[in-house]
Amino acid sequence: MNRFNPESLVRQNIRKLTPYQAKEIPCRIKLDANESPFPLKLSDFISEIDVHLNRYPDPEAIKLRKALARRIKIPYTKIMIGNGSDELIYYLILTFGGPVLYPSPTFAMYGIIAQSVGVKRIESKLDVNFDIKEEVIDLIKTEKPRLIFISSPNNPTGNSFSTEKILKIIDTASKNSAIVVIDEAYQPFCSERGFLPFLKDFDNLVILRTLSKIGLAGLRVGYLIGNESLLFEINKVRLPYNVDALTQYIATVALNKFYSQIRKFITEIVKERNKMQKELSKIKGLQVFPSEANFILFKIKNSHNVYKKLLKEGILVRDISSTIKDALRVTIGTKEENREFLKVLNNILGEYS
Ligand SMILES: *Cc1c(COP(=O)(O)O)cnc(C)c1O
Repeated sequence: MNRFNPESLVRQNIRKLTPYQAKEIPCRIKLDANESPFPLKLSDFISEIDVHLNRYPDPEAIKLRKALARRIKIPYTKIMIGNGSDELIYYLILTFGGPVLYPSPTFAMYGIIAQSVGVKRIESKLDVNFDIKEEVIDLIKTEKPRLIFISSPNNPTGNSFSTEKILKIIDTASKNSAIVVIDEAYQPFCSERGFLPFLKDFDNLVILRTLSKIGLAGLRVGYLIGNESLLFEINKVRLPYNVDALTQYIATVALNKFYSQIRKFITEIVKERNKMQKELSKIKGLQVFPSEANFILFKIKNSHNVYKKLLKEGILVRDISSTIKDALRVTIGTKEENREFLKVLNNILGEYS
């Protein structure tokens, strides 16, 4: 009897797809996934969970949307919740299709999802300072993308792009019937205000945010902010119960009752990031890039070996060298974790000299 081989049935674009790399690597200090290092235990801020598990969750997640609306001062009707912002990226591409244009290197999911859905990807390389090139403007006019994704601050480079430059992109896109998605996953760590104030000026602007990087990665809550007419279209592909009842309840309580604590954590991370930036820049042979996020990108010779030696000491960072030569990305941890990371890194580099 012939063995059934699923691969023969897989759509061509999926067969060629490399999945997003996410696996648990055992370590002592985890600085690889841009999570918050501050433990947020459920029992620390919720004593009773008032959820009826026999019922489906609220398909419109009204309470959670209202809790978010209060925080960002935008009507809740302009907010859609996703199972992480990853899901919302998926919905955007599923709804509007391609071509999908994005600068590169950037967050891997724009490309992976575009490929899964089967639409054309257009990548525009960032310049040596990891800034967006002028060619993006030309590409909007000539390639007619339907969606343009810009992560600002950008992952994995850490810099944010100038407001003026992005406004020019949004304006050009608006004249060419393209939607611009500003992915503000790291906005809470950034000194600039982000693009919420510009929503009223542009119908083709969508903003993505997430609770993942500010302490609630385990919950999977991302949100999309845009005009009601855009949300109406995206809602057609959204699965009816995409955010479960427990998540809706806990995220709502966290936003309504625990937000000042989350803010303190963010302030602490920014302080630690600036310190870490300074310390890394003192290390000879190491090139550190400016960051407006909760992680720092740096280049070092033999980066893959440095990565492995750090891991041997129990410290897990992200090896970016397959996309940016010699680059490693370190997430900002607690004061103690950062100190330990710097100590071990200095020891490792000392061995080379
Ligand atoms: C981490 C990250 C996301 C994914 O966030 P989730 O809400 O956890 O799905 C989206 N965009 C960027 C740029 C990220 O770095």
